[in-house]
Amino acid sequence: MLIDTHCHIQFKAYNEDRDEVLKRCTEKNIILNAVGTQLSTSKLAVELAEKYDWIYASVGLHPIQEYVMQVEEEATSFLSRGEQFDYVAYKKLAEHPKVIGIGETGLDRFHMPDGVAQELVMEKQKQVFLQHAKLAAEVGKPLVVHVRDAHREMINIISNFKSARPTGGFQISNSPGVIHCFTGNWEQAGQYLDMGFYLGFTGVVTFSPKKTDPKPQEDLLEVLKKVPLNRILVETDAPYLAPQKYRGQRCEPWMVGEVVTKLAEARGMSSDEVAQITAQNAKKLFDFA
Ligand SMILES: [Zn+2]
Repeated sequence: MLIDTHCHIQFKAYNEDRDEVLKRCTEKNIILNAVGTQLSTSKLAVELAEKYDWIYASVGLHPIQEYVMQVEEEATSFLSRGEQFDYVAYKKLAEHPKVIGIGETGLDRFHMPDGVAQELVMEKQKQVFLQHAKLAAEVGKPLVVHVRDAHREMINIISNFKSARPTGGFQISNSPGVIHCFTGNWEQAGQYLDMGFYLGFTGVVTFSPKKTDPKPQEDLLEVLKKVPLNRILVETDAPYLAPQKYRGQRCEPWMVGEVVTKLAEARGMSSDEVAQITAQNAKKLFDFA
């Protein structure tokens, strides 16, 4: 059994052939977390989770959905909406028994809207993230955190809310959530780990280093080798980030097996062992029944 702890199987990238994709997942005995990025995709994730016992959902507003902008990503492009975080509507979804996580939410300095000062965008992202953290504490479910080009800021925010000052006093649990699609270095990883977070690894770990700039991939490999085994989660972020073997294709949740293989190789373990340990970790953080 493999658990894809972060994918977007509810996205329209699968509207034409979702049943076939789901069939491929069941053939490989996959359990998955369908992660919402706005209210509509959060609702769709919950609907899928109601329909299939092996699908769970997370609900949240992705930072790039907070402003209207055109987003180009590998295998897809879309117009983000400029949505406000509706605490009441998200709370209603968050209380659903098949909802296991709050997010994805976080900071993204990579995608910036035109015509808005960067500080304003980052401040808004921070406030929306804190709303998610409040909701997570309120419903007792872990955070699913997105960080792109903003580790320093995120580490600052989290270390502050661990001391509960800027949040209005709500408490964050000792297993506050996962830094999904972690691609940072060991120093950053260590800080998240110290604050109780799990690290989620995607197909990015299977990519070949860029010839012009191999450092980020070398740093990531160092993290893969050093991160404590009991804090590792595996994920795909499908439809994005297909592993090297399938690069350029639409990613599907069963491809999480490639991430497991890479981890096994980095740690000198068998794929079965890594699959088992990461599934245990996923069940410890998230309420996969
Ligand atoms: Zn995602």
